[in-house]
Amino acid sequence: MNYISTRTADSEKQSAAYVIKKGLAFDGGLYVPESIPELTKQNIEELAEMSYTERATYILSLFLTDYTKEELEAAASAAYSAEKFGGPAAPIARVGDDYFLELWHGPTSAFKDMALQIMPRLLSLSLGKTGEAKDAYILVATSGDTGKAALEGYCDIDRVKIQVFYPVNGVSNIQKKQMASQKGNNVNVVAINGNFDDAQSGVKAIFANDGAKKMLEEKGLFFSSANSINWGRLAPQIVYYVSAYCDLVKEGEIKYGDKLDVTVPTGNFGNILAAYIAKKMGLPLGKLVCASNKNDILTDFINKGVYDKRREFFTTVSPSMDILISSNLERLLWFVLGADKTKECMEKLASDGIYSLDDEAMELIREDFAGYSCSEEETKKTIYELFDEFGYLCDTHTAVAAHAAKQYKSESGNKMLVVSTASPYKFAPAVLSALGEEVPSDDFDALDKLFAVTKCAIPKNLANLRDAEVRFTKTIEVKDMINSL
Ligand SMILES: *Cc1c(COP(=O)(O)O)cnc(C)c1O
Repeated sequence: MNYISTRTADSEKQSAAYVIKKGLAFDGGLYVPESIPELTKQNIEELAEMSYTERATYILSLFLTDYTKEELEAAASAAYSAEKFGGPAAPIARVGDDYFLELWHGPTSAFKDMALQIMPRLLSLSLGKTGEAKDAYILVATSGDTGKAALEGYCDIDRVKIQVFYPVNGVSNIQKKQMASQKGNNVNVVAINGNFDDAQSGVKAIFANDGAKKMLEEKGLFFSSANSINWGRLAPQIVYYVSAYCDLVKEGEIKYGDKLDVTVPTGNFGNILAAYIAKKMGLPLGKLVCASNKNDILTDFINKGVYDKRREFFTTVSPSMDILISSNLERLLWFVLGADKTKECMEKLASDGIYSLDDEAMELIREDFAGYSCSEEETKKTIYELFDEFGYLCDTHTAVAAHAAKQYKSESGNKMLVVSTASPYKFAPAVLSALGEEVPSDDFDALDKLFAVTKCAIPKNLANLRDAEVRFTKTIEVKDMINSL
């Protein structure tokens, strides 16, 4: 299996190891597989009898053909162990007539773990496979959750170092403590005096700085990123859709061939794109419902055929979906339009902040996708109702999806899989408020109170956090970021 760029037709083909090491393609595009491997009925029936790790090994082996089965098996076993996930990696909860796919049982209680637990191992292996003499130095600017998930994923991975920058007043106390208490010999965490954009611009400036690059080279290192556009982060996300379908068939909830609709709370379009690829492989998925919060740029795109980022940006209770540029949408454009038109759209987005697709293209997209958005009020109401009616506690992002699923379902008879992307405890203050409770000013008190009110178990990593030892305390100015490497 080889990979090509979304922006150049007939671009040079590259191996999986190469594209995982590189991240972005040479022309600024994203790497996509040149063909989609097929999943047959027999494959699915066999996978249904397997563990999550075995399913991951099989699916990844179809895409990462330059990795051996043993390598993938070792990576998947280490990434998705019961020790790390406290049980199965991607369990399904039945809530009324719907199924909720819980992707937040990993070490940081959010779905980014599903990719970031395995991607660093794939990157580490890629260095050997591509004959890379230098080790990778990952720089991450984070507004909270990605930083912690990356730190956990890269912790003590061979031939990789990681440094995370976060805005000192831009993350919650819990997020701060999660990062500041990170274990591992190859990790560093620094707070900056500035906001998230300052942190991100600072990292970009370091990437573009020749002096920094040279200094790193002398130490035998090269810069790399943990960005969600990396194919190594996307491929592992295909696995849980296949796995969920297998589980539902195995448990007799659906028969093989029954179409399963999927609703995904969407930000950067990575998670839902993985569902699209699973469907293209032959997994019997029905409609892919793209759920947006008040930042409804994707819903607008699907419904109107115009992607227009010239709009107000809202800060919401589902912050991981507060995004105006959904990078992974570029891969969908490539599947539908091909490289030349994708390049045109991306150039228009960069120069004018807007692009539009013709009716023919939008018809193709709407065969697979529907889009619904959810207001702040509706998000809170959904959390309240799900707990009130079914005793099911969900986080703010999952609530956006649950609301979208409800709007869509009236139009279809398929069963619905709602993708649940974070533990409710990760967003305890907002969840408490949605339940009509008063919110304690201290985040840790909010955790305890959410437990007292709901009696739903607190994830171990969050329960232990209050007493965790702080290792990183440094706060620096943005201009000093480059000297902190
Ligand atoms: C990142 C994130 C999302 C959005 O996923 P995308 O792949 O960026 O669309 C949704 N919910 C949570 C909790 C997240 O962390």
